[in-house]
Amino acid sequence: MTENEQHMSLLEASSRVAILGGGLMGRLLALALARRGHAIDLYDAQGPAGEGAAARVAAAMLAPLAESAITEPGVVRMGQHGLRRWPELLAQLNAPVFHQQNGTLILWHRQDRGDAQRFFGVLEKNRRINPGLPAMQTLDGAELQACEPALQNRFTQGVYLPGEGQLDNRQLLAALAGTLEQMGVKLHWSRPRELSDFAPGTAGQPDFVFDCRGLGARSQWKQLRGIRGEVVRVHAPEVTLQRPTRLIHPRYPIYIAPKQDHLFVIGATEIESDDMSPASVRSTLELLSAAYTVHPGFAEARIVEIATQCRPTLPDNLPAVRLLAPRVMEVNGLYRHGFMISPAMLDVVLELIDSGDSALAREFDVAVHRAPALAAH
Ligand SMILES: Cc1cc2nc3c(=O)[nH]c(=O)nc-3n(C[C@H](O)[C@H](O)[C@H](O)COP(=O)(O)OP(=O)(O)OC[C@H]3O[C@@H](n4cnc5c(N)ncnc54)[C@H](O)[C@@H]3O)c2cc1C
Repeated sequence: MTENEQHMSLLEASSRVAILGGGLMGRLLALALARRGHAIDLYDAQGPAGEGAAARVAAAMLAPLAESAITEPGVVRMGQHGLRRWPELLAQLNAPVFHQQNGTLILWHRQDRGDAQRFFGVLEKNRRINPGLPAMQTLDGAELQACEPALQNRFTQGVYLPGEGQLDNRQLLAALAGTLEQMGVKLHWSRPRELSDFAPGTAGQPDFVFDCRGLGARSQWKQLRGIRGEVVRVHAPEVTLQRPTRLIHPRYPIYIAPKQDHLFVIGATEIESDDMSPASVRSTLELLSAAYTVHPGFAEARIVEIATQCRPTLPDNLPAVRLLAPRVMEVNGLYRHGFMISPAMLDVVLELIDSGDSALAREFDVAVHRAPALAAH
């Protein structure tokens, strides 16, 4: 590191760091900073299982090509970065986390053919913009049968998106909490905090504060809003699917994400609302009926959980970093892509910490806002 770069580093060696929010982003950041030798205090309003986190309810699919239908190219590039980075991050944990990179299968019913055509048209266009994305493969009945034998000829065609992945979000949250504890990170569960509780850089205070509270940060990042998602978890011993399967649906993409031991996450609704009340009958019926049309073995599945959470979202539906003060950084707006893009956001934040600048932020079109007093620097 040159003297100049050292000068611009936002964190001295062995700094004391407070992280607010121990959901997905906060835990990943705590891990990276603890590995660099900083002393971390992590505060979360709720418990270690992620009870207050969107990350606990999510399906944790890592699907940049599929998501390219509904998001910006920068987010897609972050997703590609994430697919490369997750194996390295998981290798840093002290417990195994189910992680798969076996592609995504897309199916549709006859009545949704028009929507499917539109969807694939957008995917094709996005692949022309970003040739690094794998080519989607159209499967006829026999190829589909070979790809996913459990479908037993119920669909006559499908589309396979190679290389896409998923992981087990709850195993990840547990493994992160366990690893952080083992590394000596001070974990303060059930301790809600506001930025105003800290005066970083003054005596007896942390040197730096990161705010990763998702929707919990709305008190000072007013543009944040919630986008409600409902998800059903079922145990279906009669169903074996090799990979996440998406069903084209007129209102929102429905997916079935198979985790270990015949556990399936079926989701997710997408409703402009920060209502966190329990799932509606209509949403539950839609999700379960969709799964049942993909595989009748879901009829005898047992409903393990029906959960609701809200995705932390900024007005442009894109993530952003804000440097609020010289020693306060916020990372938020991960919306419906937190698992897909958090490794990229982490690397952006680490670059900003190291040099006050981030080439990756430019590559990924991540907005880095600086408070006016800081922008001059
Ligand atoms: C239904 C659903 C499905 C999803 N599916 C996917 C998917 O398939 N793929 C994907 O990539 N992403 C998915 N996501 C998105 C992903 O879950 C989020 O983008 C991600 O969890 C955001 O991470 P975060 O750390 O910013 O926020 P969160 O994970 O919500 O964590 C925020 C944390 O801050 C804590 N907190 C709040 N207030 C305070 C306070 N005052 N003090 C201290 N702590 C506080 C909360 O308790 C929580 O633990 C899904 C989300 C939902 C809701």
